[in-house]
Amino acid sequence: MTEQYDVAVIGAGPSGSTAAHLLAEAGARVLVIERETFPRFHIGESLLPASLDVFRRLGVEVVGKEHVKKAGAEFYEEATGQFATYLFSDQLGGVPEYAYQVDRATLDQALAQSAVRAGAILHEGERVTGVDLDGGARPPIVATDRGRYEARYVLDATGLDSLFAYSNDSRRRIEAFGLGAVFRHFGDLRPSIAAELLAQGNIKVLFVDEGWIWAIPLGEGRLSVGLVTRHKGLKDEWLDAAIAASPEVSRILEGARPEGPHKKLASFSFYNPRAHGPRWSCIGDAACFLDPVFSSGVTFAMLGSTLAVEQLLPALAQGREGDAALMDAHAEKMRNGYEVFATMINAIYRRRLLPGLFFTTDQNTELRKGLTSLLAGDVWRTDNAFLEKLWRSRLRVRLDDRGLSMV
Ligand SMILES: Cc1cc2nc3c(=O)[nH]c(=O)nc-3n(C[C@H](O)[C@H](O)[C@H](O)COP(=O)(O)OP(=O)(O)OC[C@H]3O[C@@H](n4cnc5c(N)ncnc54)[C@H](O)[C@@H]3O)c2cc1C
Repeated sequence: MTEQYDVAVIGAGPSGSTAAHLLAEAGARVLVIERETFPRFHIGESLLPASLDVFRRLGVEVVGKEHVKKAGAEFYEEATGQFATYLFSDQLGGVPEYAYQVDRATLDQALAQSAVRAGAILHEGERVTGVDLDGGARPPIVATDRGRYEARYVLDATGLDSLFAYSNDSRRRIEAFGLGAVFRHFGDLRPSIAAELLAQGNIKVLFVDEGWIWAIPLGEGRLSVGLVTRHKGLKDEWLDAAIAASPEVSRILEGARPEGPHKKLASFSFYNPRAHGPRWSCIGDAACFLDPVFSSGVTFAMLGSTLAVEQLLPALAQGREGDAALMDAHAEKMRNGYEVFATMINAIYRRRLLPGLFFTTDQNTELRKGLTSLLAGDVWRTDNAFLEKLWRSRLRVRLDDRGLSMV
């Protein structure tokens, strides 16, 4: 007989595990199906303060020598000598004044385990091959390489694999942003450099012609370095050349040892305008993945999951999970949040507008605090003067059926 659940969650990354935890804790019968076996590698190591409240709710502590406390972000344009640091302590208030740089293999495993502790059933090493939704007329059937499961509701949390967006043909690529990344980890940083980087634990973001470079300090003398580029046909040498051309990255990597080969990820930055329907919804990256320059991915995945669960739980209790409009308001709120970051990312790729955004010296205190709040992931408050200015600016973009469009 087909096993029956209230909710089937496909994928146990931060979005899937967060949703599974909160649903199971509230008494729902939850099955999580994850293709990989934990601990598994994942890129995306820099968190924002707005995620910490979700970690607290889940009872997951970001502790361990592999993680590092993060005070803020540093932006560089070495070609013009421009530099700016934004510390989360200098925000409007409302989210913590710090975040973390994390080892995702450890963190994602801790999140998945917390969902299991809350009562979710986790199947690792099992791949979902298809979902029969039948227009929401009856509970969907989830097919995997091991079996079939029936659930009253399905959450697609498959990340960049975006299972439903591909099968619905609703994956709208955002060609104007980064198209891919090549990255590598380094160990054995010089002790004086490691101490310097860990003093604040900031992410370094360096704008270069084809995109930007990240340098994220991790625990135990490690550094994550990557290049996000608008060019297609990613090559390992592009990262090596970008490092060699950057005095700052070359300086902090002097004497460091590469750990393993380069890694690459292509075909990112997309919006999925059809992210929910009767008895199903996409959460996390499966709904939208934006160029990671502002480290918004994990934070948005976790916040988005908590908001989706707030809609789903009462619907399950009242038998309304087949309502096609159930996630309308949720999707609208998420779109608004994605547009905040999309508008700022737009500045990165329209370079002449960058100085006005980050490197201005005459920023007044309220605007600076407002920008810092956005960088902290606090995007839905209504008293942010910087955000109001951003909405009125030439940078503003919209996410819609076509993907990204300029306003
Ligand atoms: C180059 C790069 C740099 C990034 N940097 C940052 C950063 O600094 N900070 C940040 O917050 N975010 C960053 N991100 C984004 C971040 O990694 C994601 O936003 C985050 O992982 C989204 O979580 P998720 O749960 O939606 O998806 P994921 O974490 O990707 O989890 C999806 C899970 O679904 C599983 N899965 C997929 N298909 C199937 C299937 N068919 N059956 C079963 N399981 C399946 C996968 O194995 C995976 O475990 C970065 C992303 C990239 C590409």
